[in-house]
Amino acid sequence: MQLALSTWHEVEEYLRTSRGIIVPIGSTEQHGPNGLIGTDHLDAEFVSKGVGDEIGALVAPTLTIGMSQHHMGFAGSVTLRPSTLIAVVGDVVTSLIKHGFERFLFINGHGGNIATVTAAFDEIYAASSMRGPGESSPVRCKMVGWWQGPRSDALAKELYGDVNGSHATASEVSLSQHYHPEAIKHAQMSPKVAPKSAGFFDCADYRRRFPDGRIGSDPSLSTPEHGARIYQAAVADMVDTYRAFAAD
Ligand SMILES: [Zn+2]
Repeated sequence: MQLALSTWHEVEEYLRTSRGIIVPIGSTEQHGPNGLIGTDHLDAEFVSKGVGDEIGALVAPTLTIGMSQHHMGFAGSVTLRPSTLIAVVGDVVTSLIKHGFERFLFINGHGGNIATVTAAFDEIYAASSMRGPGESSPVRCKMVGWWQGPRSDALAKELYGDVNGSHATASEVSLSQHYHPEAIKHAQMSPKVAPKSAGFFDCADYRRRFPDGRIGSDPSLSTPEHGARIYQAAVADMVDTYRAFAAD
């Protein structure tokens, strides 16, 4: 069930029996020679909609732009400053709290969002904690990467072993190929496996360390058939995560 495709009457009806909502969040940033710039938000949205369809959970519109300052050395990347993303997450959650939502599961596609979105959640809790004595809030926010479940983890190891990597991963490129087969790209990878990360700073530093944008990955291994299997695994994992969180 998607918020964007619902009426306000339907949302009011949903709130009679459920207080949970899924918020897909990703980024708009380079993903190496064959990965789409939308990979992170497309994958998070694809998995979120799959979870919503399977268990009837409401899915909010995707937050498509994240904290990607380190990718700004590559054409097409777009970033929010951390302070902007904190404000966006805070306003989205606060708007939905106003209507009665209490459980916010952010299904994330981008590791670079974690620190900032966690800070946004702490701002929300701080506002509650610093209100008058005896006032408490039932609001709970959680963020999880779509790949962070036991089925996805095992499948990525089976398909790609050590060369799944940590940016422009073979898994995330496969998943986007399953979602958008009309946009599959082919490219030579040189070197075949990208350098691993020992950390990075600003975007110029990132580009110097990782010239084609990848970190530790070989996404020439990606296929839409792999993507179909990764999708099934990720949706099953995230269904479990949502159910446990909504009941907590
Ligand atoms: Zn990504």
